[in-house]
Amino acid sequence: MMKVEECYICGCKKLKHLWKVPECLLRKDAFDVLHCSVCGFRMTSPRPSINELSVYYPDDYSAFHFLIPDKAQEKKTCFSERIKNTVYVHEFGYPLSEHVKWIKPMAWLFRQMLGWFPPGFVKEGRLLDVGCATGDYLVFLRTLGWKHLYGLEINSRAAEWARDKHGFDVYTGILNEHYVPKEKFDVVTAWHVLEHVPDPRVFLREVKRILKPNGLLLMGMPNAGSFETLIFRSFWWAWEVPRHLWHFDRKTLSRILKEEGFEIERFFIPANVNNWLLSVRHFLFRSSDKTHHFLFKCLDPDQRASVPLKALLMFPGLMLSLARSLGRMVVYARVKENMK
Ligand SMILES: [Zn+2]
Repeated sequence: MMKVEECYICGCKKLKHLWKVPECLLRKDAFDVLHCSVCGFRMTSPRPSINELSVYYPDDYSAFHFLIPDKAQEKKTCFSERIKNTVYVHEFGYPLSEHVKWIKPMAWLFRQMLGWFPPGFVKEGRLLDVGCATGDYLVFLRTLGWKHLYGLEINSRAAEWARDKHGFDVYTGILNEHYVPKEKFDVVTAWHVLEHVPDPRVFLREVKRILKPNGLLLMGMPNAGSFETLIFRSFWWAWEVPRHLWHFDRKTLSRILKEEGFEIERFFIPANVNNWLLSVRHFLFRSSDKTHHFLFKCLDPDQRASVPLKALLMFPGLMLSLARSLGRMVVYARVKENMK
């Protein structure tokens, strides 16, 4: 374990201790969240080495969920799916026939509510999903019309699933372990990856190398600068120490992308109230109060009886979503032409 003594983004040594946060899956150890007084970046300390980190990823880690694949196709003709398709057509250029024309003027509004974000459509384009887990996101993109899809996954069981069940070309391991020819991809997606990688700058450089000129990097991650973080403080769900080594906000993410040769094209705070519920649940989970434990069980996603309670608890989350203050962010960044 390495004690963090300087800021990863700006290199300064003025670090402030914010909170001590317990590890929540295995319920062992606790880690500090440090805040850089100069650039505002937040980091987990001490930082485990790559070998030490593997201990904190149990085999059933949530990223490796083994979902039944064909849900997206089955639901395709539902009205809600057609609304989503309208967003994909008008906001991201997808050639989908099943959409609702009269919703077009409101497509931007519905875009805020999407759970999964697609890149802009590239006909015959090649896309790599880093951290593809069991390949669910690639399945989703296939239903939207992408043909040349690749994955990269550190968990060999999940990678095997994506390969065998869905037929994707999946590398097992981490990005710089494999030789990928330069300028191979039109798009690289990385959902909830950057906060996990030991060296985000090295990761971004490798992504830039394998992207074609003007290629797109699409990422989603927790937003440590959100109002949700301010409210929940050390109880915020997405500190997820020590698996999350870095805690980006819009400012620090923009800075590192710019310094590594990317230009931000779009930036979203998804209006997904599940984030809020996750934090409420996480707060209840960490409490020792019996009523809190009861409420925690009621908020289980599989519990139907708790729908009114969920609705009540969702209300503040809905307000935060309108104020664009929820705890996740999505960024579309392009390789700057002159940086290739
Ligand atoms: Zn700093």
